[in-house]
Amino acid sequence: MSANDSYPEALRRLVAYFQRLPGVGGRTASRLALALLDWPEELLQGFGQELAALRANVHWCHECGNLADGERCRICAAPDRDRSLICVVEVATQIPVFESSGCYRGLYHVLGGRLLPLEGVGPESLRIAELHDRLQGGEVAELILATSPDVEGEATAHFLAAEFAEAGVRITRIAAGVPVGADLSYADAATMARALGGRRSFD
Ligand SMILES: [Zn+2]
Repeated sequence: MSANDSYPEALRRLVAYFQRLPGVGGRTASRLALALLDWPEELLQGFGQELAALRANVHWCHECGNLADGERCRICAAPDRDRSLICVVEVATQIPVFESSGCYRGLYHVLGGRLLPLEGVGPESLRIAELHDRLQGGEVAELILATSPDVEGEATAHFLAAEFAEAGVRITRIAAGVPVGADLSYADAATMARALGGRRSFD
């Protein structure tokens, strides 16, 4: 018998939803669900509407794969970004970290993961063809490989360096200022600024 068994059905269903979120255990889920009970009706309705419309309202940028309001994300649509630089990241959640460092004014490209051969994630599962397409215009001068500094991230960076060796662009790798195994989505701004500033040609 779990602690939630005394709750009304509706509350137990809500707790079960919260428990699906990463890092949320039973106790936290209960606390969150109970906190919602204290919200004014208007706020609850607004929250519910945002949840219901989430997929309709949030898109993936056609250019870089970042989260977007419409077809293009705010970064790709901004007129003042340096379009000669593309920073290649594994997932879109890495982008806010680079942005918060304040030292990068180029564009991004979201791979949608990294190579995990043992789990069947090969190059065709990542947005590599899209990256080739973006280099066709000749506007891009440098690809900054910002995959994670762990084994799979390094292997993915090596693969990309070979894949784009003939693409006529400079290929660099962010500096190893990030602890091995660190999740780049949660690295701090100063670490990312150092990692970007210290990037070196890939060889
Ligand atoms: Zn974009």
